[in-house]
Amino acid sequence: MASEPGHRAIEIESILQEERRFKPPAGFGERAWIGDFAAYQQLYARSVADPEAFWADLAQKELHWFAPWQQVLDWQEPFARWFVGGKINLSYNCLDRHLPERGDKTAILWEGEPGEVRALSYAQLHAEVCRFANALKSLGVGRGDVVAIYMPLVPEAAIAMLACARIGAPHTVIFGGFSGEAVRDRLNDARAKVVVTADGGFRKGAIVALKPRVDEAVAQATSVQHIVCLRRTGQEVAMQPGRDLWWNELVARHSSDCPAEALDSEDVLFILYTSGTTGKPKGVVHTTAGYNLYSHITSKWIFDLRDEDVYWCTADVGWITGHSYVVYGPLSNGATTFLYEGAPNQPDPGRFWQMIEKHRITIFYTAPTAIRTFIKWGDEWPKRHDLGSLRLLATVGEPINPEAWIWYHRVIGGERCPICDTWWQTETGGIMITPLPGATTTKPGSATLPFPGIVADVVDREGNSCEANEGGYLVIRKPWPSMLRTVYGDPERYRQNYWGQVPHVYFAGDGARRDADGYFWVMGRVDDVISVSGHRLGTMEIESALVSHPAVAEAAVVGRPDDIKGEAIVAFVTVEAGVEQTAPLLDELRAHVVKEIGALARPEEIRYAEALPKTRSGKIMRRLLRSLAAGVELTGDTSTLEDRSVLEKLRDG
Ligand code: ATP
Ligand code: MG
Repeated sequence: MASEPGHRAIEIESILQEERRFKPPAGFGERAWIGDFAAYQQLYARSVADPEAFWADLAQKELHWFAPWQQVLDWQEPFARWFVGGKINLSYNCLDRHLPERGDKTAILWEGEPGEVRALSYAQLHAEVCRFANALKSLGVGRGDVVAIYMPLVPEAAIAMLACARIGAPHTVIFGGFSGEAVRDRLNDARAKVVVTADGGFRKGAIVALKPRVDEAVAQATSVQHIVCLRRTGQEVAMQPGRDLWWNELVARHSSDCPAEALDSEDVLFILYTSGTTGKPKGVVHTTAGYNLYSHITSKWIFDLRDEDVYWCTADVGWITGHSYVVYGPLSNGATTFLYEGAPNQPDPGRFWQMIEKHRITIFYTAPTAIRTFIKWGDEWPKRHDLGSLRLLATVGEPINPEAWIWYHRVIGGERCPICDTWWQTETGGIMITPLPGATTTKPGSATLPFPGIVADVVDREGNSCEANEGGYLVIRKPWPSMLRTVYGDPERYRQNYWGQVPHVYFAGDGARRDADGYFWVMGRVDDVISVSGHRLGTMEIESALVSHPAVAEAAVVGRPDDIKGEAIVAFVTVEAGVEQTAPLLDELRAHVVKEIGALARPEEIRYAEALPKTRSGKIMRRLLRSLAAGVELTGDTSTLEDRSVLEKLRDG
């Protein structure tokens, strides 16, 4: 952008003001790991004064090491190595070290969609992981060999991940909803040697067949030597002799004794592809020690994990949230982590609340897209259940619009649970900006403040910090232990995407502002910024204004090329159940946006939609709507789109 001398151009303008404040609930801080705001401030000050000392101290206290590191951080911008020379094993830290005190404690509590329940104690999980690790070894999998995991959300998915971590075989988990093509692309990109899958999984009362998709993918993925198949749904599947093995038969042949290998701190732990919201998914590489430390300590302090908690993060293990906050973070802390295989509305929209009541879930972590769906389904579903066991709520995935935050607080949290709106990415490995539940006063729609050790900022293109409330680019100024190490097979893309945008900082690709209290407000993707008459607007604030109207369930805004204004705002909205899609309502919505945030943000056009195009992880794909609004052909990657028919309906409608 052009700027006059002495005047920095404002990168992204903020127009929404949210004034509500929520203090940590009375008494929460007294028993929390981080007890009050002063404690957070002290910890934060110490962490940034000497980050290496801070991380080294935590690594020493919180993790088991087979051998100490020689150097805390080796930083050759943009390449980091943490705890250099240290020997460690993530599976050991998640399992073996808990056995003396927590051998009988439930590690994984699981419910299948049809309703069956399984509880695996730490001792049982340890034995299963060892057996499967031995099984993988028998198939020739060793340190550095990539194993792909394409499974329903069953305990064996976590067992396979932990078994890989135990023997130093990087895993790449592929979401069970992906097509054979998407599986093939990932198998080839990661050069996987073995695929672990199942006959199928249950979703919305039906069987989703997985093995046939793997067969299809493997036909065009020459690196794959074996397929291990778990029997879950029981239908006929084709098994190719010599290549394919049944999980049960395979593990039956192996012992439950498999000592964890002393791995290098920087051994690759996993490769995981991003959600594909803004383009073709990137293969993000994470390594062992730094990731272990960061997922551990964020789980402990943010979810305030205690031995008596029953913790539920609703993410699939196919996403980073499932890696860090379903499997590794909670288990490293010796917690009980709950997994649910199926859909939230099977057999009815009360399923989640019924399970919270039944299993006495205490901590619940989900996504704004899910919360907006629950709102649409109506308060009667949660109101039928006793949600009194909940003590902490959290969200991740997209900015949460303040009205959804308030609903979550009131209807699910009974106005007694703190809400942690956690901002982070596949690339960051763990939560970066978040409230600490006993310490931070929350503001609906703000992810609040950086986690200790994280130097986050909002800057212009040159890297200068923006003024309070001035929008700019969200960046991280210092390396942190769980940062991605590279893009798999493409270090140049890593450098360019993340460290080549603003000098000497990690560029997240999100727009944000900081308010006068230093709180971060994520305003949407930098790629989605709309430029109206010289004003650059993020998507989040306009969408929040639309959703604050009682008739609107969800909204997505995009820019459409406009001769006069540069871009005009086009909004796509879905309405609440029972609301009629009339023309007068569209006028009312336009007027509502003007009233909430001003004439500048007035949508030129609002279109009704039955549903919005989303990624499989539930994020709105605005890049597709942008093409639709402009009336041009859809180009770009749609491999992670949840439902293609949504686009067709929008195009025809
Ligand atoms: P791709 O990088 O392939 O486009 P993606 O960015 O959606 O996909 P993820 O790593 O799953 O892939 O998502 C990270 C992004 O999600 C963040 O960059 C941010 O835009 C958004 N996000 C996650 N949590 C929050 C949050 N609490 N508030 C606002 N935005 C969030
Ligand atoms: Mg991204």
